[in-house]
Amino acid sequence: MSESKLSPSAEALAFIQRQHKFLIGEQWLDAEDGRTLDVVNPSDGEKIATVPGGNKADIDRAVATARKTFEDSEWSRIKPVDRQKLLWDFADLIEKNAGLLAEIESIDNGKSVVIAEHVDIRLAVDFLRYMAGFATKIEGRSVDVSVPFMPDAQFHGYTRREAVGVVGAIVAWNFPLLLACWKLGPALATGCTVVLKPAEETPLTALKLAELALEAGYPAGVLNVVTGIGHEAGAALSHHPDVDKLTFTGSTEVGKLIGKAALDTMTRVTLELGGKSPTIVLEDADIQSAAAGAANAIFFNQGQVCCAGSRLYVQKKHFDNVVADISDIASNMTLGAGLDPNAQMGPLVSARQQERVCNYIQQGISAGATITAGGDAHAGPGFFVKPTVMVDVNQNSTVVQEEIFGPVLVAMPFDDIDEAVRIANDSQYGLGASIWSNNLSQVHRMIPRIKAGSVWVNCHTALDPALPFGGYKQSGLGREMGSDVIEHYTEVKSVLMSI
Ligand code: NAD
Repeated sequence: MSESKLSPSAEALAFIQRQHKFLIGEQWLDAEDGRTLDVVNPSDGEKIATVPGGNKADIDRAVATARKTFEDSEWSRIKPVDRQKLLWDFADLIEKNAGLLAEIESIDNGKSVVIAEHVDIRLAVDFLRYMAGFATKIEGRSVDVSVPFMPDAQFHGYTRREAVGVVGAIVAWNFPLLLACWKLGPALATGCTVVLKPAEETPLTALKLAELALEAGYPAGVLNVVTGIGHEAGAALSHHPDVDKLTFTGSTEVGKLIGKAALDTMTRVTLELGGKSPTIVLEDADIQSAAAGAANAIFFNQGQVCCAGSRLYVQKKHFDNVVADISDIASNMTLGAGLDPNAQMGPLVSARQQERVCNYIQQGISAGATITAGGDAHAGPGFFVKPTVMVDVNQNSTVVQEEIFGPVLVAMPFDDIDEAVRIANDSQYGLGASIWSNNLSQVHRMIPRIKAGSVWVNCHTALDPALPFGGYKQSGLGREMGSDVIEHYTEVKSVLMSI
């Protein structure tokens, strides 16, 4: 455990210690009923701030504001080129404030400040810039038609892609700012308005984003942020009949509730949900780099990554070596606060998450697993769990089938490619998978057989704005990023004109 104690900058501290309010239209408000939520620093368990605990009345007000702004405001008449520039300016401001945002994210979530700046914020800025370009490239088609029952008529047929309208965005706590930007990018590029509800554990960077959006020049009402608890503010947003599209990142359990609520009102919906992604190491791989890559695939961001490589399958010949290498890496990792640059792993986001992960470890041990590294929480303040590796697990066991969402790896050997594909696909989830191998034709033959939205080869959780990301099976519906995301934020209108 690293003992370095680092204080946040005066600017970060001033922001965190503010009397926080949320943004609806141009007004910074308390919750209508005055309730607040505590915000806790996971690195020491101390309360650091309070934010308003929004409820249905606040969501109603935010949706009404977003509706009015979408239908009748300068935003509803803005030119694509100006939407493009605004989004670019917004990205510039986020980049300018990257250090501050990273500190706030680190203190709020527990993640490494270095990773927050160079992964979370960097990816968010790159993605918003990528999306800015789409504002001027949203196109319909002109279509030659042959309407059968009007033989003498001539027609001009074409399609238009139109902004879907008011977007309700609900996000998880593991990459708070980045996940919010995955929703804001396409929504703002296409001309939608947004009501964003951040996770109750990590509301702070969403409030800073709202401030930066106004500073970038977005008209009031385009981005509204309401902080609150999931089953209150989140549920109110997902059941709201005047929301045109819901976009959600979080657990499969809550995703299903949101999907059902959306179906009731025929609200468009995309769901980015949980995962239990396999890391598959073939015998011809560069074994040392595969072991290092597999360790990073699970331990990055404390394992709180939807596509974390949480199931490791290694071809028998190298199983013991790879497990030994990863266990060695795990046992030597330095745990420490998010602001500590020497820390290689921070705390989990909350006491609840720490307890949940430790329960899973205990369940694995009870079912006969052998622990080769870690195996419990780290004593002391903060919500730390030691990076943990388990072997002697059964493919059907809870620890192999359920998403633990912490730094816990389960490892199993396999004999041949058919077995690797079978056990990799033996999951309710299908978010990501990585294959480690130097046999390219073997890899190419495997890729179509893997049921996952992303397949990485000799890398894992490598994301780029231009590549769509999303899940097969119970890992979700729809895609974020890439050009594919535009269709989820637009409707297609067919126009047929008799000429
Ligand atoms: P969660 O589902 O508990 O919460 C996510 C969000 O939903 C939060 O904002 C929460 O307040 C809200 N919420 C909770 N209950 C709600 C309800 N009844 N109605 C409406 N909203 C509600 O998930 P979590 O624990 O915050 O996040 C971890 C999960 O997110 C993991 O399963 C992880 O795999 C998943 N995740 C997926 C992706 C992806 O892109 N596929 C990315 C990050 C995280």
